Amino acid sequence: MAFWALAGEGCAVAASEDQPVSKIVVLMGAPGAGKGTQAGLLSRRFGWPKISTGDILRELANTDSELGHKVREIQASGQLVSDDVLAEIVRERTSRTDCLNGYILDGYPRTLNQAELMLELAEAQGKEPVVVNLATRPETLRERLSSRLICPRCAEIYNDVTNPPREANRCDRCGAVLQHRSDDDPQAIAKRLEVYRDQTEPLIEFFRKRGLLTEISGEQPLDVTFEQLTRLLGPA
Ligand code: AMP
Repeated sequence: MAFWALAGEGCAVAASEDQPVSKIVVLMGAPGAGKGTQAGLLSRRFGWPKISTGDILRELANTDSELGHKVREIQASGQLVSDDVLAEIVRERTSRTDCLNGYILDGYPRTLNQAELMLELAEAQGKEPVVVNLATRPETLRERLSSRLICPRCAEIYNDVTNPPREANRCDRCGAVLQHRSDDDPQAIAKRLEVYRDQTEPLIEFFRKRGLLTEISGEQPLDVTFEQLTRLLGPA
């Protein structure tokens, strides 16, 4: 039987000597640090899926369901969706076959509970977690978030100042009209940065203590950051 016929949804493939251990790339950093942009570039370079919990939750928020309405409210306020909902989403998404050779997490984990679950998943899936913190100053974050544009169709990320689309207000990839995110308004930005400081920043120490953390400056032009990430993750 062909290999692909055996490797069904959710099957873990054990690493062998000629098959390197696949990675879970975890991009950490405050909102606006460039996680989503770098995750997209890395995904295209290495062929690993980008798993953005923010994008998945935004899709869920657009559904006419009780959970969808709840998620929409939480996202608009800048608070975090519960760890239980996230656990369900991440377990399901990372068990798909496109994750077998590795995947990139953008926006997950954001709490200590989530960090512990991610390490459990890594062990169960036989993958090596590589955690990168894109360290960025609060002034830079505020500036970037208020000039950020996203594509409502394919979720590509742009910035009026540092990463503008080729044609004004149109997505380079799919041509849809770009939008500002509803949680990129000043009040929600302030809340998201506060939530990041209180609940997510402690994860930097958590991963550092376990010897899993690499720090890369999120202040640099995006191609410089991308080159450093590419070097860290090895040849494509
Ligand atoms: P992001 O697109 O990563 O900035 O996420 C947008 C919003 O989605 C956040 O402000 C949260 O409300 C929610 N969200 C995304 N990822 C998570 C997560 N890992 N845990 C809890 N809430 C999340």
